[in-house]
Amino acid sequence: MTLAPAPGSGMTSQRTRDRMVARLRECGVADEVVLEAIRDVPRHMFVDEALASRAYEDSALPIGFEQTISQPLTVARMLEAVRNGRELDRALEVGTGCGYGAALLARVAKAAYSIERIAPLLEKARANLRPLRIRNLRLAHGDGYQGLPEVAPFNAIVVAAAAPHVPRALQDQLAVGGRMVIPVGTENQELRLIERTSSGFKETRLDAARFVPLRAGKG
Ligand code: SAH
Repeated sequence: MTLAPAPGSGMTSQRTRDRMVARLRECGVADEVVLEAIRDVPRHMFVDEALASRAYEDSALPIGFEQTISQPLTVARMLEAVRNGRELDRALEVGTGCGYGAALLARVAKAAYSIERIAPLLEKARANLRPLRIRNLRLAHGDGYQGLPEVAPFNAIVVAAAAPHVPRALQDQLAVGGRMVIPVGTENQELRLIERTSSGFKETRLDAARFVPLRAGKG
């Protein structure tokens, strides 16, 4: 009789996750808080079982509904950029998808919120997140273009889908000193960093990017 590997062994083990973190470090991710979050959150629990052995490759993977879980390096860079070495009180993610990014955000912020337009995908995210028992994360079904005005302002906003322009509502929901990262563009996308200062907004271009589109309205 051969024994089935214990859950969390082999391709989905802590060691595999440690190796992924080492690769992220080699790629220039230096924020220890972000790296620790990535080390702790089991990415394989957010993809279908058939893809679990590929969960710690640095690639985007399908999660259904024509959407993808973002590439670990991209998620790490975005979190590093919004955190900027600070402790975050309140943070928002737009585009919950399978819930992986939300789980990470909850590790780097005191209170994390994530909004998703596709209701069945949000249910999938809830199911993925349940066993992790994350207490400081709230998920919402809605249109991310509108943000979450009822809990704004946010110290950080991470947008996980590409918009043709920076949505005004999201910009307005940044606290003074708050930072948002958002992929902007259609064919050629770039990651932008928006900082709210006491006198207005400052925009910086980061890397080239490739995200699924941010779509208007609830799904
Ligand atoms: N953070 C996710 C990435 C998911 S891909 C993860 O870790 O897996 C981007 C997600 O944005 C998709 O699930 C898509 O449905 C969602 N999305 C697209 N437009 C949206 C909108 N206007 N409001 C909320 N979510 C949106």
